[in-house]
Formats: sequence, C-alpha cells, structure tokens
Amino acid sequence: MSCRSLLATAVALACLALPTIAAAADAPLSAQAIATADKLRDAGIAGNATDGSRAYDIVESLTTEIGERLAGTPPANRAVDWAKAKFRKFGYDKVYVEPVTFPLWTRGVEEASVVSPYPQHLEITALGHSVGTHGAIEADVVEFATLDALKTAAPGSLAGKIAYISNRMQRFKDGRGYPAAVVARVDGPSIAGKLGAKALLIRSIGTDRDRMPHTGVLDYKSDAPKIPAAALSNSDADLLSNMLRRGKPVRVRLSLGAEEHGMATSYNVIGEITGRRKPDEVVTIGGHLDSWDLGTGAIDDGAGVAITMAAGALIAQEHPHPARTVRVIAYMDEESGSFGGRAYANAHLAQLKQHQLGAESDFGAGRIYALRAGVKDAAWPVIEQIGKVLAPLGIVTERNAADADAGPDTGEFAAKGMAWAQLAQDGTDYFDWHHTANDTLDKIDPKALDQQAAAYAVLAYLAAEAEGGMGSGEMPLPKAEK
Ligand SMILES: [Zn+2]
Repeated sequence: MSCRSLLATAVALACLALPTIAAAADAPLSAQAIATADKLRDAGIAGNATDGSRAYDIVESLTTEIGERLAGTPPANRAVDWAKAKFRKFGYDKVYVEPVTFPLWTRGVEEASVVSPYPQHLEITALGHSVGTHGAIEADVVEFATLDALKTAAPGSLAGKIAYISNRMQRFKDGRGYPAAVVARVDGPSIAGKLGAKALLIRSIGTDRDRMPHTGVLDYKSDAPKIPAAALSNSDADLLSNMLRRGKPVRVRLSLGAEEHGMATSYNVIGEITGRRKPDEVVTIGGHLDSWDLGTGAIDDGAGVAITMAAGALIAQEHPHPARTVRVIAYMDEESGSFGGRAYANAHLAQLKQHQLGAESDFGAGRIYALRAGVKDAAWPVIEQIGKVLAPLGIVTERNAADADAGPDTGEFAAKGMAWAQLAQDGTDYFDWHHTANDTLDKIDPKALDQQAAAYAVLAYLAAEAEGGMGSGEMPLPKAEK
C-alpha cells in the first residue's frame, strides 16, 4: 500500500516522516530546498493544538471578530485592519495595502410570497448588484427549464410577468456543475429584461436541499433594462415548480430593497517574506478577504485567506528565507467580479516577468487532491519535483487536466501572461453552503486546513527557490480573457 492510499488512515502519519527522494544533481531544485520543503510540509500538518499550521485559528478569528464582509461595508473595512494586524503578528517582513475600486451595493429587505392560488411564503435572496423593486411588485410567473429555454421566448412575451429559471446545479468533486448552472444567474436578468419581464427568479445555484437561498453576482448588459433578480432556495424552487405544474396562473409578490451606491475604494492587503537573493522576483499566493453578507464568509473565502496566510507564516519562520519573495495577498472584492485581482494585475503589469508564479485558494475548505499548473514546458520538471514533495499529502500532479484553472483573482494576471499553479480542492460539498447564510465556521475541518496550508507552503517555497523562471510573459495568452 502506498503512503498516499494509507493517508486516509490514522497510521499514515508514519509515512509523512519519510524523507522525499533527494533531488538529482542537475535538478532545478537543490536537495537543501527539497529538505526544507519536506520540513515545512510536516510542520504544517503536525496536527496538535500548539503545532501545525495556524489556518484554523486565523479563520476562526476572522469569522468571530469580523463576520460577513461585503466589500465596501464597515465590516469589510475592519477586515482590512484585521489582515494587516495578522500579517504583522506572524512575522511577515513587509505589510502594506493597495487600493481597489468597485461598485458598492447593499441588500436591504428581501421578501417574496405566492399570492395565489396557494398563498405561501418563499425564501429568496437578491442576486448581488440587483436593482430593488421600489415597493412590492406582483406578477404571474412563467417558468423556463433552462436559460437556453428563456432565450427562445418570443420578444415581448414576458411583458408584465416574472420569469423563473428552474434548472438545478449538479454536484461534482471539481465543481464543474457551477459554470453550467451559473449562467442563469449571471446572464438571466438581462435576457429576461429584454423580453419585457418585470423581474427574474432563479433556482439557487447550489447543490443543497436546504431552505437557504444562494446569492451571487449578476451581470446587467448595457443594452438591456435592469430588472430586479433574486434566487429561490432549492426547496422553494421545488415548491414553485410544483404549483406551476398544476396549470393555474401562479402570482408572486416580490419586494427587494437592494441599492447601488456608486463606487467605493478599499484595499488588497499584502504581506511579504522578502527573498534572500532575488527580492524583486515574487511568488504570489492568496485568497479573497471580502465575502457575501449572508453567512460569516468562512468557506468563501475566509478559508483561502487563512490557508495562504498560514502557509506564509510557516515560511516566515524558516531561515534563511527562500531565494525569491513570497507575497501573500488578501484580495478585496472578488465577489462583485474579481476587482481585487484585476487591480493587482493592473498595478503590477510592468513587473509581469518578475512574477515567478501565482496561485490562490478560493474553493472552500475541502482537502487538496491535485497540483496543476500553467507554466512553460521547460518549467515542468520543477512542478514535478514540487509534486513529489506534495505526494505524501495525498496530492497528485496533473499535467493536462481539462479543468485546470488559475482562479478568479490570480486568473486576472494569468490572463495577461503570469505563470500560475492550482492546488485543486475537493469541492463535493462546497456548493451546499457557498454564498448562503450557511457559510459558517462549523463547515471547516481544521485538519483539512492544515493539509492545505502545508501544500501552499511547499508550493510557494519551492517556486521561490527554483533555479529558472516558470514562464511569465513567455507563454501564449489564453484564448479569451476572463
Ligand atoms: Zn470566493
């Protein structure tokens, strides 16, 4: 039995103490660097109250002392100060902020009910950046099985109606059900608006069977009327579809107090461990500091901030420091559309080639199972070597994964040519809680966070130690920018 398959059992810890196979003399990473990475990995998962990574304590602190962090609101602004204080506490060499400007939106009241023929309350939540209803609106509901079905409706056929898209997101370990379903949330409001609808309801983009609706951002197109849009909990989507199936008109009353408040400025918060030989070259890791306002932002993305901050804290304790600088970024306002990632990419475009590698954690708190990367071919031996150090954590290296992805914030710079890596997480449960009131600390397994912090520490340390570059500015750009 391999160490990896043993890892699921308690006796697996013995495997973790085994040294990784020493690097060959001509390998791009020194035996010393590999030995240090082994040590970082084992320290990260040491797994008792005083050792291991600090990841769980960090996300416990963020969710307890700050809570929900909708970008531009007072708690998100307090989170900026919280992140600065944490970076300082963990011995980062430099702590600073960079501005991010984004549209400020607030939710306000949100209520819905069926007026007839079967009067009942409905659990809904406004989609992020929806306009409000300015008082209650009432209209008959027209159901569409999918967004594509809505697109085929005759022009004007939805005049005075509430459109309703009812398809359910499918559950997969890698979350591939999300892009297929989320188009209803992102594009549905403008398509329904052009067809004359008064409002749009969608089934929540989530895999749960809870009566908790999932929010998430919409995208109003400039050539379409802005109509109010909200998500029904999965349970209430079932209820509404069952009513409609009976063939009588179903009339719904909807009230949303959502409002836009112009542009606001907040900050990406950055902590650095200064490189000992090439301080101007950087490896970035990070997560996003903002969250939606329904839960406490534990899995999305307090976990990602905690994992990467804790990984940096492990590296900061290591002397000498790695050759290049390790930069941990707590991005602000991913949720409205990767504003933090875009601000970082724009501010640092002139230093693209000094960015050795970027990676981020923004897929909940499930264990990492794969290492993937977008690097030049000549850098693959480094990725393979990093993969060997990660293997005892149950992580396999995948060179040609179809769904490899740099992530929403790092992806902004990757789209401009930065080399990137992905530590793919098990997202089987992620979309049960994502963007709901149920995104709370109790969904997080501290040992899973340690595994991830250990993996990010290894990745960042070895990428910062590698002899050659990973290909930033040398690779063909992705076909379409995100
Ligand atoms: Zn997120």
